[in-house]
Amino acid sequence: MVLIYIDKDNQEIKKASYEAISYGAALAKQLGTNAEALLLGTVSDDLTLLGKYGASKVHQINNASLQHFDARMNATVVADAAKKLGATVLVFAHNINGKAIAPAVAVKLGAGIVTGACQLPNTDAGFTVTKTVFSGKAFASIQIETPIKVISINQNSFGVLEGEGTAIVEQLEVEVPASSIKITAVHKIEGEIPLTEATLVVSGGRGLKGPENWGILLDLAKSLGASTACSRPVSDADWRPHHEHVGQTGIQIAPNLYIAIGISGAIQHLAGVNRSKTIVVINKDPEAPFFKAADYGVIGDAFEVLPALTASILKSKHGA
Ligand SMILES: Cc1cc2nc3c(=O)[nH]c(=O)nc-3n(C[C@H](O)[C@H](O)[C@H](O)COP(=O)(O)OP(=O)(O)OC[C@H]3O[C@@H](n4cnc5c(N)ncnc54)[C@H](O)[C@@H]3O)c2cc1C
Repeated sequence: MVLIYIDKDNQEIKKASYEAISYGAALAKQLGTNAEALLLGTVSDDLTLLGKYGASKVHQINNASLQHFDARMNATVVADAAKKLGATVLVFAHNINGKAIAPAVAVKLGAGIVTGACQLPNTDAGFTVTKTVFSGKAFASIQIETPIKVISINQNSFGVLEGEGTAIVEQLEVEVPASSIKITAVHKIEGEIPLTEATLVVSGGRGLKGPENWGILLDLAKSLGASTACSRPVSDADWRPHHEHVGQTGIQIAPNLYIAIGISGAIQHLAGVNRSKTIVVINKDPEAPFFKAADYGVIGDAFEVLPALTASILKSKHGA
């Protein structure tokens, strides 16, 4: 059986989980087995609807101490649940929580692991998983030889496949160990979608010259309902807060649309954004490396392009 870990944020299933279930279901079909999902704690979403993505069953471990994410505790509980259910493949989203627990679960199960997979495994002879390496510049194919296998799947590399179906929801009894940490408070940034969950992101680089010029970027983001991000030098210079820094040393994101404004497209920046579905680059230098990674490019001065783009988005939204 293929067991897929459902990642949640407070009471909501994270979007990366739907892709992980779609991937797990396709893999289960390939292996001639079932895809079942595992939820630790509770969510407000209707769990039977996970059947639409291919989960035949959802196992729920309903314990109050699992409501907040604790990597050590979650890894222990997931590994124990996998043993109890007889899972042979475990699938995680390769997001912040998946990265934290998948390797620990693999150790507990004595399983081989591939993190950051980008395709379904080749199971014709053995079990070979392809992943991206060198910040997305190359692929590596890795054969897992252990009886139990763990895979974390890169966001936006497989897609969410929605069909028909209803999942059976069952409660699962697994002993929940005492936590070694105590979460006393969780402070969320109000009104903003976390960058890792955002579907639309507008991002600025040094080409915007200074923090006083960010208004035109914020106007564009607002017109689209997008979250905002920036390159590392921008957050290093305190033009923007550090939680907006994306890239190899910042947050890695996978939105449907990433608009990069005045960002050169250094490999370290691309490492954090190259899993975006569509990349739009606005840069005045036609030789900027970012254009090579772009789906759409605008060669132009951001100070002219942004106000015009925002005005035309608002016009198309509200009419004029
Ligand atoms: C170990 C290491 C880790 C790193 N990690 C990261 C990371 O996580 N994230 C990250 O972003 N960087 C990271 N960097 C830095 C990275 O190498 C680049 O230096 C950085 O991404 C460049 O930022 P930038 O594109 O904003 O600035 P620049 O390289 O200065 O580029 C500015 C761009 O703006 C364009 N421009 C200028 N004026 C305008 C205008 N008026 N209109 C439109 N375009 C204009 C220019 O043509 C240029 O392409 C890392 C570097 C190292 C060594």
